[in-house]
Amino acid sequence: MALMNKIVPRLTNFMRCRGIASLGALPETHQMLQRTCRDFADAELIPIAGKIDKEHLYPKEQVKKMGELGLMAISVPESLGGSGLDYLAYAIAMEEISRGCASTGVILSVNNSLYLGPIEKWGTEEQKEKYIRPFTSGERVGCFALSEPGNGSDAGAASTTARNESDNGKYILNGTKCWISNGYESEAGIIIATTDKNLKHKGISAFLIPKPIKGLELGKKEDKLGIRGSSTCSLIFEDCEVPKEAMLGPPGSGFKIAMIALDDGRIGIASQALGIAQASLETAAQYASKRLAFGKSLLKLQTIQNKLAEMALKLESARLLTWRAAWLKDNKKNYTKEAAMAKLAASEAATALSHQCIQILGGMGYVTDMPAERFYRDARITEIYEGTSEIQKLVIFGNLMKEMDL
Ligand SMILES: Cc1cc2nc3c(=O)[nH]c(=O)nc-3n(C[C@H](O)[C@H](O)[C@H](O)COP(=O)(O)OP(=O)(O)OC[C@H]3O[C@@H](n4cnc5c(N)ncnc54)[C@H](O)[C@@H]3O)c2cc1C
Repeated sequence: MALMNKIVPRLTNFMRCRGIASLGALPETHQMLQRTCRDFADAELIPIAGKIDKEHLYPKEQVKKMGELGLMAISVPESLGGSGLDYLAYAIAMEEISRGCASTGVILSVNNSLYLGPIEKWGTEEQKEKYIRPFTSGERVGCFALSEPGNGSDAGAASTTARNESDNGKYILNGTKCWISNGYESEAGIIIATTDKNLKHKGISAFLIPKPIKGLELGKKEDKLGIRGSSTCSLIFEDCEVPKEAMLGPPGSGFKIAMIALDDGRIGIASQALGIAQASLETAAQYASKRLAFGKSLLKLQTIQNKLAEMALKLESARLLTWRAAWLKDNKKNYTKEAAMAKLAASEAATALSHQCIQILGGMGYVTDMPAERFYRDARITEIYEGTSEIQKLVIFGNLMKEMDL
């Protein structure tokens, strides 16, 4: 938190006078945050990223240290134990942490934007005290459960139910949520469930539940292609009883809560993708500078130069889209379309750059002695979770038509 105490007053000053759009470079305050996160990633994450991937290890100590730096609750107000920074700061931190380790990045992202964000926006004072403050320090993390075995992209078709026991004011949850990040370690979660099937989207509500809780079992830990340091599992509810105070926001607002959380989350996942892409570019350029072929450095070959130039172009374009989406959110403007554009562009950039990174490393790109193959595996998820690329295009198109009044 010491770092944030220095950054916050300067950031507030900056926000008062101008916005990111008018700047050629990041303001000093954000640069400080960027440097801090980069140093942390170099010292604490890059050395362990290969091991946690290989052994499926949750980076508990590193998550605690990120909490001490104020990174586990970046945009939560200081009055609730957060760092009180803006979403641009969150995007920058997410990129730098994910540059070091994409698994650690998703743990950070879920806690910040999918778990704490909705509670801060929709929670009662009691809910905020109970479910935000203890989750800001890195000691505890939260999760967000929307997807189900029968519906992922079609998030409005939630078949998990929350039956209202009107005589005792309790809700009984039944059903299975799947693919839940932080599923194993989380000590609380936001669960999206149907309270009235007849009302379709408007019959979906959000619930805040502590973990563990009677009536909730965890499914097996998924054996994934990438981000293997982050746990992913199903949450299986069987007659799980929660008090009516567990509802987050008004009855029937669960779908809206989830969609807003995903708009925010997409800025985080875009930033995670930028981090993977940046790591790919750095690894490729450094390797090319040392590797000799036909008597000269790879960097002297025009084909390699073109590849690196194209990689840098894709990365920088996606970064501008991502920072713009964050800036729009920070300035209370519409950002749904821009967040979808950022996630689409950044996730495609991460896949393309990690692919080219392997290509530039040749055989060394294909083995686990170098991190390139991990970047390639980690990149792939950014095109899938928090809305697949196909769904981002639907979001972009829908908003475009609204803007064009068509
Ligand atoms: C590692 C991991 C972590 C995750 N973490 C979480 C989490 O913490 N919380 C959570 O709630 N969920 C989480 N998810 C779930 C994730 O958000 C979903 O997997 C994703 O939204 C896609 O849903 P699906 O897998 O059901 O694919 P489907 O919806 O079955 O889609 C399959 C294919 O069809 C395409 N498709 C579907 N509908 C359309 C359409 N209308 N138009 C065009 N194409 C379409 C999709 O783009 C995709 O290519 C996670 C998933 C993974 C793999």
